[in-house]
Amino acid sequence: MSAETQYNKTLVLIVDDNPQNLKVLGNILRENTTYGLAFAMNGFEALEFISAKKPDMVLLDVMMPDMDGYEVCRQLKKDPATENIPVIFITAKTEAEDAVMGFEAGGVDYISKPFHEQELLMRIRTHLDLKLSRDMLEDKNKELQQAYETIEKLALTDSLTGLANRRSIMNLMLIEVSRCDRNGGYFSLIMCDIDFFKKVNDTYGHDAGDYVLKTISDIMRTNLRQQDVISRWGGEEFLIMLPQTDLDKAVAVAEKLREAVKSAVMSFAGEHFSVTMTFGVSRFDKGSGIEHSIKKADDALYTGKQTGRNKVVMAE
Ligand SMILES: [Mg+2]
Repeated sequence: MSAETQYNKTLVLIVDDNPQNLKVLGNILRENTTYGLAFAMNGFEALEFISAKKPDMVLLDVMMPDMDGYEVCRQLKKDPATENIPVIFITAKTEAEDAVMGFEAGGVDYISKPFHEQELLMRIRTHLDLKLSRDMLEDKNKELQQAYETIEKLALTDSLTGLANRRSIMNLMLIEVSRCDRNGGYFSLIMCDIDFFKKVNDTYGHDAGDYVLKTISDIMRTNLRQQDVISRWGGEEFLIMLPQTDLDKAVAVAEKLREAVKSAVMSFAGEHFSVTMTFGVSRFDKGSGIEHSIKKADDALYTGKQTGRNKVVMAE
C-alpha cells in the first residue's frame, strides 16, 4: 500500500466550539492533504464520534463550554478501545503550564494559535505516521501470533484424527509425572491397536483405512473423560493416558472401549464392516519411569495380539 493510499483512508476529527476555527482548520487540511475529515463542536459530540468511528487523530480545542478538551482527552485515554488515538491540542492558551496539562491529559502534542500552517501540517503528519506504523505493527503482531498458534497446534496434533500426536502426549505425560511427584497422584496407560488393520486397507482401500482411524478416534473421545489424553501413537496404534485412574479401573475403561469399537458398524463407500482392537494396560510406576510404563502397556498389548486379539490384557 502506498503512503498516499494509506492517507486516503486516514480520518482526522477536528473539535472546536467555534465554527470559524473549524472552518479554518478544515480548509487547511482539505487543501494540503487527502485525509478524511470530521467535525465536532463540543466534547460530548467528539467522544460519541470517537468511540463510534475510531478516527486516526483528534485535533482538539482546549477551551470549550461544559467539557473542556483536557477532559475529552482524559476520557478517550481511559477507554482501551480509543486510548491509542493521538490527540493534538490546538489552543489560544499559550502558558507553559497549559501545555503541560495537555500532555498530562494524554495529548501527544500541543499547538498554540495562531499557528504556522506548514508546521501544523508537519506535526499532524508526524503523529499520524507514528500512529499508522504502530497500527500496522500491531496487525502484524496479531498475524504472527495466530501463525505461531497454528504451528504450535499442528506440531502437537495428528492431522488425520485431530488427536494428540506422540510428541504431545509425551509432553503431557511428563507434566502428569511431575504433578504426581508433587501431589502423590497416579495414572494408567492404555496402548491399543486395531486388529488386522492392513486387511482393511487391502480390502477397502486406504481411504477406508483413514475413515476407520477417524471413526475409532471419535469412539474413544466419546467414551473417555475430558481429562484423559488420547493420542495417535503410530499408524493404527493409540496411547491413552488416564489421570487418577488405577489399574483395575483402566482395565474396565479399556474393556468399555473394546466393546464400543467391536459393536460399531463401519460404513464406507457402500461397504459395511466392523473392526476389533486389542488393548494393553499398565499403571505408571514412579520407580521405573515413564518409558518403562509405556513398554509394559506395549508388552501387554503384544501378549493380547499373540493370544487371539480383541481383548484387554493387564500388564504384569
Ligand atoms: Mg474554544
